[in-house]
Amino acid sequence: MSRTIIIGGGIVGSCTAYFLAGHGETIVLEKDPSYQYASTTLSAASIRTQFSLPLNVRMSLFGAEFLAARAERVGLVPRAYLVLATAATAAGLRANREMQLAEGAAVAQLDRDQLATRFPWLNSSDLTCATLGLKHEGWFDAYSLLGSVRNGAIERGARYVRDEVAGIDIVGGRATSVQTVSGDRIRADNVVIAAGPASGRVAALAGVALPVEPRKRTVFVIRAPLDGAAMPLVFDTSGMWIRPEGDTFLCGISPPPDADPHPGDDFDPDLNMLEDPLWPLLAHRIPALDQLRLQRAWAGHYDQCLLDHNAVIGPIPGVPNLFVASGFSGHGVQHGPATGRGLAELIRFGGYQTLDLSALGYQRVQDNRPLPENIVY
Ligand SMILES: Cc1cc2nc3c(=O)[nH]c(=O)nc-3n(C[C@H](O)[C@H](O)[C@H](O)COP(=O)(O)OP(=O)(O)OC[C@H]3O[C@@H](n4cnc5c(N)ncnc54)[C@H](O)[C@@H]3O)c2cc1C
Repeated sequence: MSRTIIIGGGIVGSCTAYFLAGHGETIVLEKDPSYQYASTTLSAASIRTQFSLPLNVRMSLFGAEFLAARAERVGLVPRAYLVLATAATAAGLRANREMQLAEGAAVAQLDRDQLATRFPWLNSSDLTCATLGLKHEGWFDAYSLLGSVRNGAIERGARYVRDEVAGIDIVGGRATSVQTVSGDRIRADNVVIAAGPASGRVAALAGVALPVEPRKRTVFVIRAPLDGAAMPLVFDTSGMWIRPEGDTFLCGISPPPDADPHPGDDFDPDLNMLEDPLWPLLAHRIPALDQLRLQRAWAGHYDQCLLDHNAVIGPIPGVPNLFVASGFSGHGVQHGPATGRGLAELIRFGGYQTLDLSALGYQRVQDNRPLPENIVY
């Protein structure tokens, strides 16, 4: 029986197992089944259709369908993203919206007056326009989603094994087995690297250069005299984002690239970022946030693709049974289902059957040909 080994049981590995299980033997090797440091469980667990790359829109549309089918189980809150633009960025935002509509998303455009009327708590004085998702966007509980997908994979026959992969054997241009820290060598017909921020390090075990590294991101939980009941996720022109979470709010901002080092094992939230730059940006955009109160903060690691902020998905040229799926750079939970389905198709049928993900393949890494995604945060 054909055996697929999936390295990493986060949302990407588990979605792959879910779609693949039942066709041959599927083994997921996960070093930490508590998922304490996994990107999936430390994420902001939100989904949007507002991307600049058409393929990312389509992957989100499938993610939204997948979530809607488990809405209650995963605590899905259907809610819009509000992406803001100044005069300098308005043309790009409008062009993105045209593309998003063409791909099947439902996104409205609001001018400054409409923004002021509809969201009176928002300072729109320096804005030109915004786009607002009408469907297929929102947030959910990441633990519940992961649990539901993992259980579904197990019900379909996948086996989860607690172990850490320490070696990948390549013989004659094929991945033949993986070695684990507990001393096992497990034969494989296919190997999938879905190790999140550690994927670059795991790929190196097979001699593959994958430009994926961890980058620390802090999420702040705040209270404020602001009604979040119908508030969208606001994606500010500064890169700051905020969304309601129950009766609190989650918010954050990425550090500038020159202050965004490899974090190693550092998962301490960067509390300094609240004072500067986050709080002034929040208070500028939403004046009520001048009176915010910090409740707590946590940090997780993005699986950052250093080439172009987009995932690398598919087989490694020259090693056709070794697959990677990582580098989602902040949007991997929502794209887990489309990725898992795509990888399962590649493994079962030798090619994509539904959504063609080949533009995100490893070839662009080899050719040093970035495929940028502009709406990242
Ligand atoms: C603060 C923050 C906010 C985010 N917000 C969002 C969001 O709103 N929406 C969204 O879509 N995405 C978001 N993301 C991004 C998203 O979390 C990731 O892209 C996604 O979770 C990646 O999933 P994964 O399964 O590849 O990685 P992970 O969830 O990290 O899973 C990888 C697993 O591999 C295991 N592993 C690693 N090395 C080995 C090894 N050698 N052997 C065995 N197992 C191994 C790890 O233990 C881990 O469980 C956010 C990320 C962060 C950090």
